[in-house]
Amino acid sequence: MSKRPLRLGMVGGGQGAYIGNIHRLASRLDGNWTLVAGAFDVDPDRGREFAINEGLDPARSYGTFQDLIAGESAREDRVDAVAICTPNFTHYPIAKALIEAGFDVICEKPLTATLEDAVALETLSRESGRFVGVTYTYSGYPMVHEARVRVGRGEIGDIRTVQVEYPLEWMATAIEQKGNAQAAWRTDPKKNGRGGSIGDIGTHAYHLAGFVTGLTLEKLAADLATFVPGRALDDNAHVLMRYEGGARGLLWSSQVALGNSNGVRLRVFGATGSFQWFQEQPNELIYAPLDGRVQTIKRGADDLSEDAKVRSRTPPGHPEGYLEAFANLYCGFAEAIRARLAGREPTAIGRNIPLAYDGLKGVAFVEAVVDSAESDTPRWIKPIAV
Ligand code: NAD
Repeated sequence: MSKRPLRLGMVGGGQGAYIGNIHRLASRLDGNWTLVAGAFDVDPDRGREFAINEGLDPARSYGTFQDLIAGESAREDRVDAVAICTPNFTHYPIAKALIEAGFDVICEKPLTATLEDAVALETLSRESGRFVGVTYTYSGYPMVHEARVRVGRGEIGDIRTVQVEYPLEWMATAIEQKGNAQAAWRTDPKKNGRGGSIGDIGTHAYHLAGFVTGLTLEKLAADLATFVPGRALDDNAHVLMRYEGGARGLLWSSQVALGNSNGVRLRVFGATGSFQWFQEQPNELIYAPLDGRVQTIKRGADDLSEDAKVRSRTPPGHPEGYLEAFANLYCGFAEAIRARLAGREPTAIGRNIPLAYDGLKGVAFVEAVVDSAESDTPRWIKPIAV
């Protein structure tokens, strides 16, 4: 199989949208993908105009995702996969239609807005054999993979406690009432799902903690708060977690944490050491062993794992960050799809990538958090699908 660039389609991510542009930049970075088709906007005319301005063939500049499916299905050079960059409640109908038409899918998190949809989508992906990659951004960072490998090798011993947080500040006031489109759908339960901050960013934190530690959540108890008056969903979440085997966890997600632009932080404490990773210094992993000699492990160092090396491009001291991490997900998705087409096992970059089941676990986590928090005394709840 030649290494021709895979043909990418996109739904959502049009004029003024946030994550669609990150997908476009990240998918281009390594030459694995070429964007050739799109239905970029909920407004068909605006979407077609956006596509043409992006340089797409007018014949592949579609008004709706249904038109994209019909148009691409009729072509010999049809898209290999379609990225879904729309608000949460639309992920399921769009993904379902794409899979049923035989397309692979790259879907934004959370996988769906409801647990019912997440179960249905994961089942559809499994039974059809279609690829569904989920863009859990933080699992694209090389030093997150390095932490995962080292935890797996036993470098910090049995895990005792996991502290993971995702604080943001941009929704500290009622911007959804002042015309901010991104905040408007994120605070509408019908469009976002039942979990506000926990669904939007807590899902990232939950995936990151599970990805690095390999631990399975046994049960959780949660306390949700809505600090901004008039808001329908939580904007701050505290979740206590008990993992199988006895480890404990604490997860904090917040959209009202002033001073935090994107403060994702993971700390894993074991019996013989700890690892810390902070997204705003993504090239460094802090290792604190029992003997007190704290070390900074740097991206690009010679003795890193293969999993970290294949996700790095530049030598140490030349920082890589968010776009490269996102691009690593796109490299992984391309490799997984190419491997399937060629009937072989994927290489390292196509392994340990977030798939539909990870997306389902994320939605199950959010549902359990909201269920737990709905009683005055938080209840311990076992999420399904963990
Ligand atoms: P946004 O509001 O900025 O953009 C949504 C876009 O989807 C708009 O262009 C809108 O016109 C379009 N759209 C809506 N319905 C459509 C439809 N039926 N057909 C075609 N286009 C349609 O939203 P956003 O902040 O970019 O978030 C989009 C998704 O990405 C959400 O699921 C969100 O949770 C996720 N997200 C993920 C990350 C990450 O780190 N992975 C970061 C931000 C957002």
